[in-house]
Amino acid sequence: MIESPAVSSVANAPQRDSAYQTALTQFDRAAQILNLETGLYEILRAPRRELIVNFPVKMDNGEVRRFTGYRVHHNTARGPTKGGIRYAPHVDLDEVRALAMWMTWKCAIVNIPYGGAKGGVVVDPKQLSLCELERLTRRYTTEITPFISPEGDIPAPDMGTNPQVMAWIMDTYSMHRGYSVPAVVTGKPVNIGGSAGRFEATGRGIMFTVREAYRTFSWRFENIALAVQGFGNVGSITAQTAYEMGCRVIAVSDVSGGVYNPRGLDIPRLRRFVKEHGSVSSFPDGDRITNQELLALQCDVLVPAAMENQITAANAAQVRARVVAEGANGPTTPAADEILLEHNVLVIPDILCNAGGVVVSYFEWVQSLQQLFWEEEDVTHRLERIMVRSFHDVYELALRMDLDLRTAALVLGVGRVAEATRTRGLYP
Ligand code: NAD
Repeated sequence: MIESPAVSSVANAPQRDSAYQTALTQFDRAAQILNLETGLYEILRAPRRELIVNFPVKMDNGEVRRFTGYRVHHNTARGPTKGGIRYAPHVDLDEVRALAMWMTWKCAIVNIPYGGAKGGVVVDPKQLSLCELERLTRRYTTEITPFISPEGDIPAPDMGTNPQVMAWIMDTYSMHRGYSVPAVVTGKPVNIGGSAGRFEATGRGIMFTVREAYRTFSWRFENIALAVQGFGNVGSITAQTAYEMGCRVIAVSDVSGGVYNPRGLDIPRLRRFVKEHGSVSSFPDGDRITNQELLALQCDVLVPAAMENQITAANAAQVRARVVAEGANGPTTPAADEILLEHNVLVIPDILCNAGGVVVSYFEWVQSLQQLFWEEEDVTHRLERIMVRSFHDVYELALRMDLDLRTAALVLGVGRVAEATRTRGLYP
């Protein structure tokens, strides 16, 4: 087991469950280990630019509603910024700042030439009609146009957004320019220049990383039991990939609850069911469980793939998995990290584990810029190579410096960004 002696200082800190506080606490720890000079510490700790937009959207009933959106660029030392756009009722500036910062470290860990960004709109997309969602997306895109471009900042899907939303963003941006600009966004549908394998990338990347961890520790991978919280893009593809790799997915959940079957769920059937019924919770071939019960299930791998702050000081001691593979961003608080470490649970951190999405987004961007398209097999093979290499980069650093995997990943990511900043020098 990889242990981190220095983590204990976090446990004494007050319990704070904001994603931004989590991100800052994690950064401070890496900065301390790297012994970052004060100026660089100050620069890397703060977002480079933040945009808040308030904009009107005409609803189907003729009423005009005001919405608020954000786009944050955290850091540009290693390249243009990259990061998803989230549509959720709880989004605020701090959440977007946290997610943008995590994107910076993530891109550096997998060594792709990007800085970190994130965007969000305060909205429950399920409450809007398709036409309202399109009008909202087009107006938000127009409002953030000064911030996005193929050379400067490239959005992608995140919670509550999907390839169709990316298509509207690409179309709106292209209309302003007067010609098609497919490289302004990734996660687009394949028929307008998206990449084969992008939709599946995050979930596949998670399972490549989990399998590599099992190989590295010489643990038996065949028929392992997984529990997956969240059944959107990330959760459903993680479950599907695990199923195809011969694992048993014993439980999945979404916002309305979960389903449990110790013999293993038929994931292709469950995905068809969700398409028809909208939720996993009434799937007939299993017992109903709550999200909290899912997190506490006896299993080999727990994949939180819904949202932040799911494993906290309040429930971390109940986690009975051998491995927590973080599909969501920020699902585990620093205090929970400490408890999981004490209980010998291996946490594969978000900034490594779920990086497959941004890796294939990078492939998509390269293809869009060149108007040249790769086969899905090629995409997935390259993805696997990067995930395996990145796992070992992090693991070997963890061994060398006697750190847990999260701290090692942060030290690797923050260290690479710090190095790029030093190399570029200070303007003016
Ligand atoms: P999504 O909108 O496709 O799916 C989210 C899922 O979580 C849905 O099944 C939803 O019902 C469920 N959910 C929402 N609130 C919940 C709650 N309170 N309890 C339990 N389940 C809940 O979103 P996604 O793209 O799959 O993203 C999920 C997470 O993965 C987010 O943290 C996101 O930032 C992260 N992530 C996404 C990508 C990507 O490529 N889409 C890449 C890296 C990380």
